[in-house]
Formats: sequence, C-alpha cells, structure tokens
Amino acid sequence: MRKLDSKVPPGPLAEKWVKYRSTMPLVAPNNKRRLDVIVVGTGLAGASAAATLGELGYNVSCFTFHDSPRRAHSIAAQGGINAAKNYRNDGDSVYRLFYDTIKGGDYRSREANVHRLAEASTDIIDQCVAQGVPFAREYGGELATRSFGGVQVSRTFYARGQTGQQLLLGAYSALSRQISLGSVTMYNRHEMLDLVVVDGKARGIIARNLLNGKIERYAAHAVVLGTGGYGNVYYLSTNAMGCNVSAAWRAHRRGAYFANPCYCQIHPTCIPVSGDYQSKLTLMSESLRNDGRVWVPKDMAMVEKLRKGEVKPENVAEEDRDYYLERIYPAFGNLVPRDVASRAAKYVCDEGRGVGPTGLSVYLDFSTNTMRYGRSVAISKGQPDASDAKVKEWGKEVVSAKYGNLFEMYEKITGENPYETPMRIYPAIHYTMGGLWVDYNLETTIPGLFALGECNFSDHGANRLGASALMQGLADGYFVIPYTIGTFLANEIRTPKISPEQAAFDQAEKEVKERIEKLLSIQGNRSVESFHRELGVDIMWEYCGMARNADGLKTAQQKVRKLRDEFWKNVFVPGAANEYNPELEKALRVADFFELAEVMIMDALDRKESCGGHFRDEYATPEGEAQRNDKEYAYVAAWEFKGPGQAELHKEELTFENVELKTRSYK
Ligand SMILES: Cc1cc2nc3c(=O)[nH]c(=O)nc-3n(C[C@H](O)[C@H](O)[C@H](O)COP(=O)(O)OP(=O)(O)OC[C@H]3O[C@@H](n4cnc5c(N)ncnc54)[C@H](O)[C@@H]3O)c2cc1C
Repeated sequence: MRKLDSKVPPGPLAEKWVKYRSTMPLVAPNNKRRLDVIVVGTGLAGASAAATLGELGYNVSCFTFHDSPRRAHSIAAQGGINAAKNYRNDGDSVYRLFYDTIKGGDYRSREANVHRLAEASTDIIDQCVAQGVPFAREYGGELATRSFGGVQVSRTFYARGQTGQQLLLGAYSALSRQISLGSVTMYNRHEMLDLVVVDGKARGIIARNLLNGKIERYAAHAVVLGTGGYGNVYYLSTNAMGCNVSAAWRAHRRGAYFANPCYCQIHPTCIPVSGDYQSKLTLMSESLRNDGRVWVPKDMAMVEKLRKGEVKPENVAEEDRDYYLERIYPAFGNLVPRDVASRAAKYVCDEGRGVGPTGLSVYLDFSTNTMRYGRSVAISKGQPDASDAKVKEWGKEVVSAKYGNLFEMYEKITGENPYETPMRIYPAIHYTMGGLWVDYNLETTIPGLFALGECNFSDHGANRLGASALMQGLADGYFVIPYTIGTFLANEIRTPKISPEQAAFDQAEKEVKERIEKLLSIQGNRSVESFHRELGVDIMWEYCGMARNADGLKTAQQKVRKLRDEFWKNVFVPGAANEYNPELEKALRVADFFELAEVMIMDALDRKESCGGHFRDEYATPEGEAQRNDKEYAYVAAWEFKGPGQAELHKEELTFENVELKTRSYK
C-alpha cells in the first residue's frame, strides 16, 4: 500500500494557509508567459481557475463539452453559498464554519483543507460582489443571508433561487475578459476523452470536437480538471443529463487515485419520481426548509384517505400531522443535514406513511410560515386585525419574494400550486463527495494534474452541508489553485513547450480511436439509454443508494459485471465517428460509468461503518442513526486503477488535532 502524502503544511491550523501561501515557490511573470496550462471545465471551479490563471499571466487553454461555458452544470445551483461573514452578528466565525463543515461531513475530511475553505469563504463574497453578482440584500443595502441544514447561524448568501447562475455569470465574465485579452483560448464543444501522461507528468489531453468528431491533441505543462461530479451514474439525479465522470475516470485510469467513491449525497427535497419515462429529477432547494415544515400523517387511516383523495393535505388537522424532523431533532428541526433528513424520509415511507400515488413522498408545507410572515406584514401596516385571507395574501408575497421561481418551477412540473397545497418531496441523488484524490495543493497522484470543485474528493467528508459546493468550487478556482499550481510549475520554467507529436500522445489517441470504433462496431439491440437506466436505477440506486448492506452490494457487483459485459456486446450506437453524434458521446460516458460503479461498490463494501451519505444497514445505532467506526475507518479510501472492476486500496489516515470526534447529534 502506498503512503499518501497530503502535504498539509505544519503549524497551528489557523496559520497554516497564510504561512504556506507566503512561503511557497513563485513563478516570475516572464516565466508564466511561457508556461501552458490546460483547464478542463467551465463550471464555477474551472471558469474561476481559468480566469485567474489567465489573469496571472499563464497561457491557458480551456475546454468544455458544452456549447458555451455558461451551460456548465453550476448554473443549476439554486439555494446559496456559505461564507463566515457574520453579518448577522449571530455568532458565526471562520472557526464555526470550519467546525460545522467537519462535523457535517461526519469527521471524514481533512482538517487543514476545511479550515482553508472557511478562510477563503469571506473573500469569495467580496470577489463576487465586485464582479456584480446580484446577491439578495436587506432593506438597508447589506447582503442578506439565510440558513441551510446542519448549522445554527445564518451564513448562506443567495441570489433568489438562482445563486449558481449568477455566480457563474460572474466567473464567466472574468473568463470572457481573459479570452478577449488572449490569455485564455476557449474550446467549446470539445470533450476530453483521455489524459496524456509523459514521463510520469500530466502533459496534455486528447479531445473530441463534438461538432465534427475530429480527435485532437492538446499539450501543456500542467492540466487542471474542474469537470464536476458523477451523480449521473444513478441515471435519475438532480444533475444535468450531460454530467459525467469521464474526464476524472480517464485520469484515474492513467494513475490518479479515486477517493471515497461511495460517498454520494442524497438530497431530501426533490420532486418525487412520477413515472418510467423520466430521465431527470428536479431539486427543490434546501433553502425551502427555512420556511417549509416537513410532515406525514400520524396514522395509516389518514394516509389512506389522502391517497383516495377523500381529504386534501391542506385540510389535515394539526393533531393528525407528524412533523417528524421537529419531533426527532428538536435542536435543528427541519434544518437537519441532508443525510439525516433523507434517511428520516425513507424511514417514514418504509413505515407506509409516505404520501402521493407511489407512497414515496412526504409533505413540505409552507402554510405556518406564510401566515407568520403575513401577520408580521399586517402589524407593520398597522392592521393587526386584518382578516386571515388578507394575512395569507401578504404572507404569500413574502414567500414569493424569497422562493418565487422555485414555487413556479414546482407548479410547472407537478401542476400543483404550493402556495395552496403542500409540496411533495422525496430524496434523490444530488452530489458526489468522492472524486479524484488530491493533496493540500489540489494535485492528484499524477504530478502536474490538479483537480478542483466537485471532481475532487473535496472538503466535505462523507456528507456535504448545503451551500458549500459553490463555496468550494470558487475557493479552489479563485483562491487556492493560483497559488498551489506554482509548487509544480516553479520547477517547470526550464521545460520547453510540450510537443503533442510524441509517443504518449500517439498512444492515447490510438486508444481513444479504438474505443470509439469498438462502440460503433457492436451494432447491437439495446440503446445506450436503456443500459444507463438499468445500471443507475435498477442496480446502483437499489443496492448502493440510500441504504446499503453487504449482501446487496455483492449482488450489485455481479449485476454490474453482467450488464457491463452485455453493454460491450449488445449496445447500439448509430451514426459515425466523424460527425456530430450525441449517442456516441453518451456511450463513451456510460462505458466509464460502468467501471466507476464497480469501484463505488467496492468502496461501500470496504467501509464497514455508516457515515454521512454512506449508510450501511448493519452499522446503525438502536435509534437508526449512522454508527461510525473511528478506530478502523477514519481514513480517506484512495483507489488505484488496476483494470476494469479491479482496484487497489490505499489509505490516507485522517488526523484530528483541533476537533474532538463525537457522535453527530442534531437532537
Ligand atoms: C440542482 C442543483 C442545485 C444545487 N444547488 C447548490 C447550492 O445552492 N449551493 C451549493 O453550494 N451547491 C449546489 N449544488 C452543487 C453545485 O452546483 C455543484 O457541486 C457545483 O456547481 C459543481 O461545480 P464544478 O465547477 O465542480 O462542476 P460543473 O459546474 O459541473 O462543471 C463541469 C464542467 O466540466 C465540463 N466537463 C466535464 N467533463 C468534461 C470533459 N470530458 N471534457 C470537456 N469538458 C468537460 C463541463 O462542460 C462543465 O463546463 C447544486 C447542485 C444541483 C444539481
């Protein structure tokens, strides 16, 4: 087993980053101009990195498979971004954000990285405000905040329900400026299909021009991946349909270790599955749990009445409702972290108290807080005796100002008006905490290959707290990589321009072409989509989803292998290689999902404990909560590729010097 060096600098936690940053090797401006950097991805992580590296003077080439950098999946982020600004004077601090994140991650993340993230959080807000990101503001002009799960302060900055979009527009404008200055060359509609490693260092990529199918080579002194998460391995998820693991997976195949693949986040508030035709699930932002109360009926008689349509949910009396999160977790109530809220929803549905046609949903009800807001407006208008109808109307206006676009989206999809009747929600796959293993410099186990944002194994341990992915992506791109890439590039200033005309590029290109030819030559009977659906819904969600156990995971392993074999014999990919061919794009991505799925299962089998999003039925407390095993499993599991379905485990032991490992309690 290889010893993984996390390269965490010495010194007190709060001083590590400041001191390290001030003492690390620098690359002089004249040398930066001679160094080429490839950035793959234009989400918050990639766009912020490419813009900042361009601004610093590096010669950057930036790639996205989308038709515009602005289409990166970050655009979907709704609820907000955390920062320890303490504008509310409610007790927040960098330490508290650090502590909440470590605890929220169930003590499975690296202390030093998380502290650095909390430090950078405040700079991110300043940077984005300077770019013109229209964060919500209080009446007096100060930036507004709201609360997200797992915390007791209000530190989430937001732009209505479109925070990701607004932040991405900010990063995109910074990127566009560099494109217009010539320091960044942008390649839209180019998909990275392989990483090229020369003499042990990442030196380039092989990309397919998606418009004409041409296979192209790009060389650089270093490669940075900001290619997002792999939640789409489950087929149904809140991720955009195009999100995939291929860039990270291809890097993994070339030697980058893949860390904690079984840590997947299941978000408690998504619009429930409604039929077999669906290929996407829609998130209802966690911010809604600020004002929405989660409940199911107390007894089965009421469940039956609701199902038969004899009673409408809005007419169910208070005494017949079980606000189970408020009952079980009084300290955090509806704002418990996502893993806890998701499991609780699963339990009540498993008991049979789930609502809606499938019984797989719970209510998220805004009526109490609509009336509370309305009363407050009535008092401020000097009309404390206003009628209930008037109070409701005013309350609706407040709720609409906060969540209007989310309510509209819900109504468009379900046909139900959430101002009048409670929303129905159910957990769905949303985010992946696992990803490429990186050290403190965000460098993978391949020198010169860096990974940022959701595609690295991140600072979120076994469970990410809401509003912290945007924070991490932007911290990585704006504030970490611009420094840490220098630790590698400072030693490359004498390296001449990397030529793409060399053996490693020939070989990688040949392998890409062979893979494409193979997929096109099968001409079988099943669509790529049908394989993806079976892999994701019937195997991964069923056996490696909200709850896992050894028997189920072993069954899943067999099923994935069998299905993967069938895929390579019976998939039908129409069209040709040298043309626009979206089915071919999908086939290449699904082929990688098959290999990833096996390592996820291996990782879930290895981790004989429950922690965060990884819940093993065998390791639960008598109350049904996750039971960690810190003695044996306080490590990052970093898997080395040894062939499809084969991987070797390396462990990075996690040391906790600043927080005490406790059983996570939100009661
Ligand atoms: C519906 C939804 C709502 C969310 N809301 C929030 C929220 O409110 N707050 C929060 O903190 N987090 C939220 N998240 C999570 C957060 O949005 C993501 O974790 C984050 O935006 C990921 O950013 P990224 O830059 O790492 O990746 P992405 O934004 O996914 O970008 C990936 C980029 O890589 C490119 N790419 C990928 N593979 C290749 C390849 N092979 N070749 C070329 N290009 C490639 C893509 O084109 C894209 O440009 C939400 C997630 C979802 C799904």
